[in-house]
Amino acid sequence: MKDGYLNFSHSKVGKTLFSILGLTVPPKLARYSEGDELVKTSILVNDRTNLVAIQQCFPESNISVVDEASSAKVGGLVFDATTITTPQQLVGCYEFFNQQLGRLITNGRIVIIGSAIDSTMSVEMAASQRALVGIVKSIAKELGRKGCSANVLYAKQVSEQTIAAPLRFLMSDKSTYVSGQVIAAGEVTSEFELSQWHKPLAGKTALVTGASRGIGAAIASTLAADGAQVIGLDIPQAKAALEQHMSELGGQSILLDVTASDAPQQLASALDKPLDIVVHNAGITRDKTLKRMSTAQWQSVVDINLGAVANINQHFFQHEVFAPQAKIVCVASISGIAGNVGQVNYAASKAGIIGLVEATAQQLQVNDADITINAVAPGFIETEMTAKIPLMTRHFGRRLCSLSQGGLPQDVANTIAFLASPNAQAINGNTIRVCGQNLMGA
Ligand code: NAD
Repeated sequence: MKDGYLNFSHSKVGKTLFSILGLTVPPKLARYSEGDELVKTSILVNDRTNLVAIQQCFPESNISVVDEASSAKVGGLVFDATTITTPQQLVGCYEFFNQQLGRLITNGRIVIIGSAIDSTMSVEMAASQRALVGIVKSIAKELGRKGCSANVLYAKQVSEQTIAAPLRFLMSDKSTYVSGQVIAAGEVTSEFELSQWHKPLAGKTALVTGASRGIGAAIASTLAADGAQVIGLDIPQAKAALEQHMSELGGQSILLDVTASDAPQQLASALDKPLDIVVHNAGITRDKTLKRMSTAQWQSVVDINLGAVANINQHFFQHEVFAPQAKIVCVASISGIAGNVGQVNYAASKAGIIGLVEATAQQLQVNDADITINAVAPGFIETEMTAKIPLMTRHFGRRLCSLSQGGLPQDVANTIAFLASPNAQAINGNTIRVCGQNLMGA
């Protein structure tokens, strides 16, 4: 879908007109494309506490520390806040950004690394650590017009194994539409070793549901570009589009309705080896205000978006269809976080997905399983699904975020590829919004 307002605002005439009318021009977002630098090449860190671990995360980048006086522009700012234990110490965070924000380039990236809040922490420390969320969410809003993003990464332990994958993702243009968010990194077993950053999914087999178009098609392309062998699934009516897309990717097609009573069994028997990655992307909307919603509209949305995901996962766990260290990624929605008029069914299904992810992640942890499960919650993404939204609602939907524009399917796909990567082993039970810091439920 074309965003006429965005395109016009970037044209010569549009720029002049927007300036006369005092309208904000949505920023031109930097997006990763194959062959680009994976991460920002110059990153400024506030101090040396975890400098070695941070440097190890970015072997290809120039990491400088703020005390090395310079006013050169930088691609990223990292504030290590893990040692902050009192509200008084938060001033260090204020001072760093107050003095250094001017050095950040357009489309620059900011990450604050905090200590994961838990019950062993003093109330003072927990409050100070939580304050970091307010800081990044506000900075993200202030810098959104420059296409910059700001996010918090809470770590249980700071090591290359736990923070490298999320930090590299957040410092890259793969995360361009992820802003004002919190990612939590847990622990990894001592045997866990990071694998290559280039083609991280080489040798992995990935199943993507709803892969014939929209976000699902982009997920399939991105996972394939990262080296995975992709199995795309869609309903029989999408046969032509699915087979065309899978043949372009050298992948396999499965035509199946995920709500069929024997769908999990059919799927499992179509596979010749365990799955390393499963992306539950297939989803529908059937919008109506609750009073006017039919039972069929309620049921189809809940069955496809939530029931099928639960059934397939349950069968795959019971029959060992997931490979060791498998990565499951579900697609939720900001409607499941904020609720939305006319979407009681959809919001229920997507909130349910977030619950499913949290409960499954906890069970996996209790059972010492090395499989992870996470979700992404897209905001307004330009697809055939959102193209059906009435014109003016669509226009406002796009502007309702700090980046003043809709996201692209590849923005969601890149976030999923990060969560599906073997290097993201410490990320479990997260729901990451890919919404340009949408105001809905923010
Ligand atoms: P889309 O309608 O373009 O694509 C959905 C795909 O799922 C289609 O290929 C469709 O055939 C498939 N599908 C539907 N029912 C199925 C079933 N029963 N079995 C197998 N496949 C089925 O939608 P999209 O915009 O690409 O959305 C993809 C996912 O992202 C959905 O889960 C959606 O809820 C979610 N999402 C989208 C947005 C957005 O702005 N587009 C925002 C938030 C969340």
